[in-house]
Amino acid sequence: MRAPVGQIYQATEGFPGASCRLGTIHTSTRTGCSLSVTSSTPESGRFVPIVTDLWRTSQAIIRYRLDDILIPSPKPCGCGSAMLAIDRIEGRVDDVVLLPRSDLAKEPALQPLYADVVKSAILAVPGLHDFRLVQLTPTQAALSIDPAPG
Ligand SMILES: [Zn+2]
Repeated sequence: MRAPVGQIYQATEGFPGASCRLGTIHTSTRTGCSLSVTSSTPESGRFVPIVTDLWRTSQAIIRYRLDDILIPSPKPCGCGSAMLAIDRIEGRVDDVVLLPRSDLAKEPALQPLYADVVKSAILAVPGLHDFRLVQLTPTQAALSIDPAPG
């Protein structure tokens, strides 16, 4: 049997999306769950979704902010769907490290450093198997590494 394997984007609070026939995850209103955008960053389009699900019979979910960070697709999906195409689910809000801005802005501000950037930078070092980075204060972090065997 040759059935295509798809993905679902599901949370306890709702069912915000599923993949189309081309494998792209789209937000979906046909599942009874609508998704809106908040905290978007202009450089990447990253956003934290807000879910509304009025189809539930036990408890309505209204404008519930999920902890996921989503990256929208930079181009429309070839399937023709008008629903937002999601390039990937990057991780959780808790995975973001906030660092002081390095520019000379007059106002002190924190700049987000997303998990994929941290992971790519740390795991680019040869000989590492795994790591854990914990932000202690806005200017201090603790990095624990697990070296590769040998
Ligand atoms: Zn599609």
